[in-house]
Amino acid sequence: KRDATINLGAGPSSLPTAVLLEAAQGLLDFQGTGMGLTELSHRSSTFKAVVDSAEASLRALLDIPDDYAVLFTQGGGTEQFSASALNMLSAHASRRGPAATATPTPAKCDYIVTGSWTAKAVKEAKRLGVAANVAVDAREHNGGKFGVVPPVSAWKLSSAASAEDAPAMLYYCDNETVDGVEFPAPGFPIDELPADYAERVPLVADCSSNILSRPIDVRRHALIFFGAQKNVGPSGVTVVIVRRNLIAHDPDAPAVLAQGGPRIPTTLVYKNLADNASLYNTPPMFSIYVAGLVFADLLKHGGVAGATERAAAKSGLVYGAIADSQGLFVPTVTQAAARSRMNVTFRVVSAEGTPDDGLEARFVAACAQRGIVQVKGHRSVGGIRCSLYNAVTLEQTAVLVDVMRAFIADER
Ligand code: PMP
Repeated sequence: KRDATINLGAGPSSLPTAVLLEAAQGLLDFQGTGMGLTELSHRSSTFKAVVDSAEASLRALLDIPDDYAVLFTQGGGTEQFSASALNMLSAHASRRGPAATATPTPAKCDYIVTGSWTAKAVKEAKRLGVAANVAVDAREHNGGKFGVVPPVSAWKLSSAASAEDAPAMLYYCDNETVDGVEFPAPGFPIDELPADYAERVPLVADCSSNILSRPIDVRRHALIFFGAQKNVGPSGVTVVIVRRNLIAHDPDAPAVLAQGGPRIPTTLVYKNLADNASLYNTPPMFSIYVAGLVFADLLKHGGVAGATERAAAKSGLVYGAIADSQGLFVPTVTQAAARSRMNVTFRVVSAEGTPDDGLEARFVAACAQRGIVQVKGHRSVGGIRCSLYNAVTLEQTAVLVDVMRAFIADER
């Protein structure tokens, strides 16, 4: 049945079959040890080699320099909503140094809200008492709905005139999985930020749903994080790539706390994870193992450059069918350049031009007839969402496009 199924789920999602076959074997008997991978000690040299190899492959894929730590942790993208703000605030407090005022105003964090996941990150920051400044909310530039990346000229960034006042981070999500909004290529417009801001403010990216599908300039970021369950592996592991100089300090040092550094739960302190090579506590062993296999598999298939080409080809086919649909399929993302290559979101609309639940149900059924599953939009927005992550092949995408074209012929 697996061969006849085309899984376009938004995450957890499809993984390469060859990887899963190898992982199935490793789950039973890892490299002839007589023990399955998840039955080893996480402190064993055998498992340490698994972590080291996953890290080395990821470093090669993303060209991660040595002054960045690669951390494998848990808690999903959601936990990084808290961890990113707390660690960057702590770093900011540490930078302030002993000469600053006795009762410093807490640093701000700037957010670029382009979809549901950044909105959630802001909500979590506020819950934690973080002074979150929403520099821009894309809904205010698109009639109340997500579907654009507003230009930098519309962002109300905090002042970065001095190191003291500068915000602790600028946070964005490179690909909004629910809303299908992706920063237009070539990615985040770092060069358009005011020069003092770009120099002083650490840039933080949630790349949960498009990492490894196009190049990202790690050196221009302070922190990049992503949950695994789209392009990387099974859910359970979350990867954090962070510039080491931002996490070198002791977050519990009285001087840091006195400067407004937050108390951070132990397992969220990046320094703890880095100092212990991701083995501070028991890690999600199976997910790390499979992620390592996925990385190695991608290296064999042209690395990130290969994935970039395939993503363009696949999403190009699907958006092409949408463009040829005579208005039957309407993209939910109004700004063409911000249409995601990973999550293609659209409505099926009636001849009168309104989204039609009945037509959408028929489209989902037509997909199912050809083995295409998990194409319903997120429950919060409805419509259709076809996710074309790295493990989805061009051939599978062609079947989807076939279904779309046949549906257009029937309905228009
Ligand atoms: N960020 C993005 C972009 C996501 O797509 C998701 C989940 N789909 C999350 C964060 C939250 O991830 P998790 O469910 O792993 O906490």
